[in-house]
Amino acid sequence: MTAPYTAAALEPEATAPLIMALPKGRILKECGRILARAGIEPSPDYIDENTRHMRFPTNHPGLDVIRVRAFDVATFVAFGAAQIGICGSDVLMEFDYPEVYAPLDLGIAKCRIAVAEPAETAGTDDPSRWSRVRVATKYPNIARKYYASQGIHADVVNLSGAMELAPGLGICRLIVDLVDTGSTLRANNLVETAKIADISSRLIVNRTALKTQPEAVGAWIARFRDALTQG
Ligand code: AMP
Repeated sequence: MTAPYTAAALEPEATAPLIMALPKGRILKECGRILARAGIEPSPDYIDENTRHMRFPTNHPGLDVIRVRAFDVATFVAFGAAQIGICGSDVLMEFDYPEVYAPLDLGIAKCRIAVAEPAETAGTDDPSRWSRVRVATKYPNIARKYYASQGIHADVVNLSGAMELAPGLGICRLIVDLVDTGSTLRANNLVETAKIADISSRLIVNRTALKTQPEAVGAWIARFRDALTQG
């Protein structure tokens, strides 16, 4: 089957390079594999965690990558600072930017967003009888929406990390966070009591960029789609 893009579309002449926003941290390595399958080789310092650089050229003159916090990828793409990105579906759910289109599930960085609480309190009373609950999370919108759907008002304590400590230190009843193996919860004497959603990373694009540069942006979407079929 012929790929639905041309090499020329990936290398537009005389225009600024497209920018792809990539998450640093935990997902960076898994991203590396899919980038390689899509034929993208960022400059070597992209994987150097100590570099102060944030923007890196690639082997394609028409594409640069920027390395930003996982939570900020969707924001860079939504505001058009980057035209393409790789972003967890947790971040997409939290921000729900109308400007962001997520055409491909890349099937990487799989985990779930879940509710957890101390083993001692789990199952001791019936959440369907709650009218409010105090929740520590970095996902205030997801947490509020999840509890609102059950008629419960969530009082959110915003934390950007270490929320596993919060129930034991008395500032909330439970937490909403990403869970992969469950070892962080176990190490902090918490148990998972409900799954809110399965999570994986998505290829995302800025809708306006897709309209104004359909060939270049569309060519990269097609490249990633082909890369997924290479397994
Ligand atoms: P685990 O102990 O394997 O369940 O991992 C839980 C910890 O890793 C929590 O602090 C999560 O916020 C973080 N985490 C798990 N999966 C992911 C992911 N796919 N992306 C980013 N952070 C994650």
